[in-house]
Amino acid sequence: MAYALEGSTGLWEVVVGLEVHAQVISRAKLFSGASATYGGAPNTHVSFIDAGFPGMLPVINQECVAQAVRTGLGLKAEINLVSRFDRKNYFYADLPNGYQISQFAHPIVGTGAVEIELSDGSIKHIGITRLHLEQDAGKSMHDQHPDKSVIDLNRAGVALMEIVSEPDIRSPEEAGAYMRKIRQILRYLGTCDGNMEEGSLRADVNVSVRKPGEAFRTRCEIKNVNSVRFVMHAVEAEAKRQIEVWEAGGEVRQETRLYDPARGETRSMRSKEDAHDYRYFPEPDLLPLVLDEQFVEALKASLPELPDDKRRRFCDEYGISFYDAGVLVADAATADYYEQVANGRDARLAANWITGDFFAALNRLGATIETSPVTASANNELIGLISDETINGRIAKDVFEIMLDTGKSPGEIVTEKGLRQVTDTTAIDDAVAQILAANPDKVAEYKSGKDKLFGFFVGQVMKAMAGKGNPSLVNEAVKRQLS
Ligand code: ADP
Ligand code: MG
Repeated sequence: MAYALEGSTGLWEVVVGLEVHAQVISRAKLFSGASATYGGAPNTHVSFIDAGFPGMLPVINQECVAQAVRTGLGLKAEINLVSRFDRKNYFYADLPNGYQISQFAHPIVGTGAVEIELSDGSIKHIGITRLHLEQDAGKSMHDQHPDKSVIDLNRAGVALMEIVSEPDIRSPEEAGAYMRKIRQILRYLGTCDGNMEEGSLRADVNVSVRKPGEAFRTRCEIKNVNSVRFVMHAVEAEAKRQIEVWEAGGEVRQETRLYDPARGETRSMRSKEDAHDYRYFPEPDLLPLVLDEQFVEALKASLPELPDDKRRRFCDEYGISFYDAGVLVADAATADYYEQVANGRDARLAANWITGDFFAALNRLGATIETSPVTASANNELIGLISDETINGRIAKDVFEIMLDTGKSPGEIVTEKGLRQVTDTTAIDDAVAQILAANPDKVAEYKSGKDKLFGFFVGQVMKAMAGKGNPSLVNEAVKRQLS
């Protein structure tokens, strides 16, 4: 059953389209040589162009163009070899020019699609309408002075990619999955760091509701939502609000709203302006942006493997589940780490190990794959020791703990602590015989039909052997001696 919200007049479908703003990773700004690095003392990364001095001419930064093309390719979208910049006019204190240079009628990237996966395992495609390049604005700060607002122009002129989706999203879950997917693709491509807390990735969330089968109704746009969770909450809160409006006999008006995370609700900011309110016109200071086919081809050829492709390859090449593959390709560093661990080993065992004990340890230590105290090659060696039966799975956990504590290699630890698995059947038979002799009453119960006691005997034998018995040999010996 698809997601729907229940109102007093029955079920409502939710319709969502996202406009994602992604700050481009590049050294310099879109049209000036000033640094695009985040932070820095206020107003230290500002050129005359960014400050809107009269007579200054913008010059396009080719690296920002390349980043937009890479992103377009990663979104499986059409690259427009000819695009154009337009002026979007509006007044705001942090916009010294009184206009933003953006792309309106002719964006650099056209239609594409991304795949999202939902919790029931189904895959859905969300259409990409376009991606265009534009300048970011500066930042107004209202908390620095008791009765003045101050402006930091460091961000003014930094390149942004606006990625617009089709209104294909139908639930908070889909909106969240879409955001995460976009972030993952951008990070794989190295075109945006995806850091929503610092604002380098943020979304305008367009929401409307309708009765199933109806045409789209009026939408509201919730501005600048800066976490995946808030995107999901904003969709739900706004949809519920609109349902109430419609059901009370009112009408939803097209407007721009803000999401207030503390109260879990959206509130009106201003009535939504339409394109004509901005008086867009072609930017007279820039020529149309014309891309060479070879430039695009070269970027395509140097694109890294994308997460969906990597995930399918992991399934095929390593025989691991689609689910596990999804976990392992979450970010490129984890995927690389896994491939090093699996190299030449039992790849499924490696996947279970990484997604299980290894991730649990990182979590516990507050570490990431980059700061992991255990290297991929040490984990690779450990998997080898399990596969060739030098140690069993139980002891591997102990060895791993010592690896975490000491940084020693697993081979060293096994030798030092004498943790080698016991495969000597005489030793195992002796241990089994002793346990059975010490528990005559349990043996009698087992023989009269209490099958569950089998596990008890195996456990006792393992314990007596300090966990080092070969599990299948121990099982066999217990079975043999009990029969
Ligand atoms: P604008 O640029 O004025 O914000 P667009 O037509 O470019 O308007 O649409 C912006 C976003 O709104 C897109 O992501 C689109 O998918 C979404 N959208 C359009 N119509 C609806 C609707 N009825 N309900 C929800 N989202 C919508
Ligand atoms: Mg918009």
